[in-house]
Amino acid sequence: MSGWENMDRNILAKIFGMLNVIDIIMGASRVCISWFLASHNRTLWKSINLTDLKPISLDDNPKKAEFLLDNNDEERRYQLRDILMEITKFSNTITTDLFLDYYYYIQEEDLAIIAERMPNIKKIAFTLWCDLNENSFQFTFSRWKNLQTLILTQPRFEKLDLDLRAIGDNCQSLTNLKLIRTLTRDLAEQLVCNFSTLKRLSFQCASVCNIALLSLIINHHNLKILNLSHCIYAEIINEIFGDEDELGLLPSENIIQTGTQNLDAFIVCSKDCKVCKEVWDIAWRGAGNNYKYYMFQNKKWKTDAIKELEF
Ligand SMILES: [Zn+2]
Repeated sequence: MSGWENMDRNILAKIFGMLNVIDIIMGASRVCISWFLASHNRTLWKSINLTDLKPISLDDNPKKAEFLLDNNDEERRYQLRDILMEITKFSNTITTDLFLDYYYYIQEEDLAIIAERMPNIKKIAFTLWCDLNENSFQFTFSRWKNLQTLILTQPRFEKLDLDLRAIGDNCQSLTNLKLIRTLTRDLAEQLVCNFSTLKRLSFQCASVCNIALLSLIINHHNLKILNLSHCIYAEIINEIFGDEDELGLLPSENIIQTGTQNLDAFIVCSKDCKVCKEVWDIAWRGAGNNYKYYMFQNKKWKTDAIKELEF
């Protein structure tokens, strides 16, 4: 009877497909030459999911003390950059889909590695925890000419004001965008002027300025689907970070009418939505409790955030 080392490499690759990425690059690929070769099978690297690596965690987010209260020292820890470098030795340039975990602390060097070594990215999801240099953003998205779907979140308490124009200007195939950050008037203007190819847009669980929203719906002529489920609405953006009494869980009648008339699908919640209440309690009433907020966003990241644009 032949041993594992003689097994057909395509079958081995199928079995490896059930392992997580770390187990392949740090484990299976190091067993023998046959497994090493099977680990390079193209089918393993087209879509890379780094959101389900527990109990393996990456020890590079300076904010981890705030949310990883159950840290276990026994866990193996890796640096994101090392993992990315290792992955790209196996994946070559064939990766089209890359999903990073909510907590990964992406820095300019990490984005540069992904951009340079994964130029064929069509779909990517990641979180922005820190400010990135504008040139770095420009460089990254100039490499991803085939980008079709982008899921990008910014934790609410990290008040970053990143200009997204470089994304729209470089990625002319971008049709699906999910942004978990506040829809301000400036952002609405960027979306209208620099993201004209967009057909599907989601701000699920984000905060939205009513004036910005109205301007976006009226002025973006290619937009077909707008998902605003579980959003918080405010008249002007300063109110979102200030007087909570002015906030609401429903858009105005005028907005609902305009959205329904201008779009194929305008998705908003009903007033008895339970998730909306959870978002309200955790993100707004509980403002200041970063731990609860991060945990909630992480849970949503693993369920709704990425799944919504899985097509
Ligand atoms: Zn809701």
